[in-house]
This record gives sequence, structure tokens and C-alpha cells, in this order.
Amino acid sequence: MAPDVTTEEVFRLARAMTLKNALANLPHGGAKSAIIADPMTADKEALMREFALSIRTLTEYIPGPDMGTDERCMAYIYDEIGRAVGLPTVLGGLPLDQLGMTGFGLAIAADVVSERFNFPLTGARIVVQGFGNVGRAAAKFLKERGAKLIATCDSKGGLYNPKGIDVLALTSVKESGSCVSESGLGRPCERHEILDIESDIFIPAARPDVITEDNQNILRTRVILEGANIPITHAAAGILQERGIILIPDIIANSGGVICAATEYQGQTEQVAFDRVRATVTENTQELLERLQIEKQPPHETALQMAKERISAAMSYRAHM
Ligand code: NAD
Repeated sequence: MAPDVTTEEVFRLARAMTLKNALANLPHGGAKSAIIADPMTADKEALMREFALSIRTLTEYIPGPDMGTDERCMAYIYDEIGRAVGLPTVLGGLPLDQLGMTGFGLAIAADVVSERFNFPLTGARIVVQGFGNVGRAAAKFLKERGAKLIATCDSKGGLYNPKGIDVLALTSVKESGSCVSESGLGRPCERHEILDIESDIFIPAARPDVITEDNQNILRTRVILEGANIPITHAAAGILQERGIILIPDIIANSGGVICAATEYQGQTEQVAFDRVRATVTENTQELLERLQIEKQPPHETALQMAKERISAAMSYRAHM
């Protein structure tokens, strides 16, 4: 749910879902949907119930939460049509945003980078664009590893504190409905200003296409973990790689959500979901980094190739192809 989402963006996100599920060895993906509305002001219950009725007959489509929606939204859909994942615990779900599954996966990707490049997470300066479900969980799990969040933003503004922002306090501020810039936990700034703050890890966790060939030069960081879907264009990712920045693409780094959703769908537990996210993100990040060393191509190309190989292998079992 976003006020400015486009049909083309939804096509591209649907494709990303196919690739991400393939990389997680899951037989899902291929679809995405969007609601044009401002999640801060919309009547979410009414919108979700109407949305549910509009997809009632698309029985292969199982909705899960994403930007601007959460487990409550999934519960309304479930109430209308009897299918959705990322449900509240009381409905037998694994509330993936409450658990912070995608942010957990991003921290696991950081662990792999840290080990391979001897890059310490203790004291690492983190900048997170978008202090939402993904961004705040990534900040929390990285803080547990000794890193500090020095800047973040939401759609209304930014916040900077070189000494480190209190992630739990900022989470409470957001839950109370205020903006990060009003939190008093650092210096308020414009939301775009956080992009050129020097960091060790930059996590885009808001909207697609925020870093392009035209603005990649403002980033001063060592590692980028793509929390959002398609936040960095392929061309920009190639230039960032030439600049020596390590980039872990979305379909590898942010797969925690789809893995958790599939685990819920299979009736498994929260612990199984955490274990699967850890194992899958570790394996894929390791494979990516090994292949990048040999293949010398942009990281998005390599991740895409890895996903396509798995899709081709899966498709080889189909008849009449
Ligand atoms: P969310 O709605 O919980 O949070 C998004 C945050 O980004 C909010 O703080 C919002 O104010 C901020 N934001 C919106 N527009 C912005 C802009 N133009 N500039 C700066 N900040 C802006 O959403 P989320 O679930 O955390 O998802 C964030 C991104 O991660 C999306 O791209 C989503 O598709 C992707 N993603 C989410 C999950 C998941 O598990 N929720 C999984 C994989 C990928």
C-alpha cells in the first residue's frame, strides 16, 4: 500500500517474488498486488476487506503482508476469503513483521559479509532508509551484533545521531504514530539527507528505484543490503560494485519474509522459520560472494543467474514445456 505505486512497479515486484522464492527453493511467487493509498491515513480495514473480495476467485493467489500492510490487514483478508499468510499468532499465524523476519535475514547476510571480508559488525555505522517493519528489525538485529544505527528516515523526514539512535525507543515513537524526525532521539533532517551520511552499512528499506545511476555517487558506504524490493537499479549496482562497495541483492538479502510466509503455510513453527531464514540467507549470500569473485559481473546479474538456474531446474520436471 503506497500513494504512488504504479502498475509497472507491481509487474516488476511480481517478477522479484518469483526469483526470490526460487532462490529460497520455494514453489511460490509470480504475483504481487498493490493498493494506491496512504498507509498513514487510509481506512485500512475497509480497504483490505474490499481488496479481499476483489481477489476472491483468484484461488492460487495467497496474499502476504508487505509495505504499508501488516498482520491485522492479513487477518481482515483471511476473515473475508479464508486465505492469507503473515497472520496474527491468535489466528495460528507467524506474524512475520512482528517477528522481524526480513530484518533478521538482512542481519544474517551482514554476518556472512562480516566473516568473509573480516568486516567487524561491532561499532559498524548503519544507515537505514525507511524505519518500517523491515528497517527497524534490521536495525534491532544489527544492534544485537554491536552495530549502531546513526541515521534513518520515514516518508515524512529523517533523523541523524552519530552516537547511535536508540532503536527500541524509536520503535515506540513510530508505534505511537509519530514520525522519526519528531522523536527527539537525534537531529531531525530531510528524508533524502540521510543518503549522503557516511556509513559502513546502508540498508534501503523503503521504495523501489531510490538509487539510480544519477544519484549513486552520493552513497558513502562499504556494504549495501537491499531490504526493499528493487531499490537500486542494475546499472547503479554495477557502478557501486566498481567503486568497491559490496552489495547483496534483494532476492537474496530480504527473503526472510517469503520464507516465513511459506513456513506458516506449511503449518510449521516460528523456530523452524528462523532456522530456515538463517540457513537459506547464509547459503545464498555465500554462493553469491563466491561466484562474484570468479564471474566478475554486477551482483544483480549473478543473483538473477542463480535464481534462473533454479527455476530452469524446477521447470525441467514439467510436462509439455
Ligand atoms: P513499511 O510500510 O513497514 O515501512 C516502510 C517505511 O518506509 C516507512 O517508515 C515509510 O514511512 C518509509 N517510506 C515510505 N516512502 C518513503 C520514501 N519515499 N522515502 C523514505 N522513506 C519512505 O514497509 P516494510 O514492510 O518495511 O517494507 C519496506 C520495503 O521492504 C518495501 O520495498 C517492501 O516491498 C520490502 N520488503 C518487505 C518485506 C517484509 O517482510 N515486510 C519483505 C521483503 C521486502
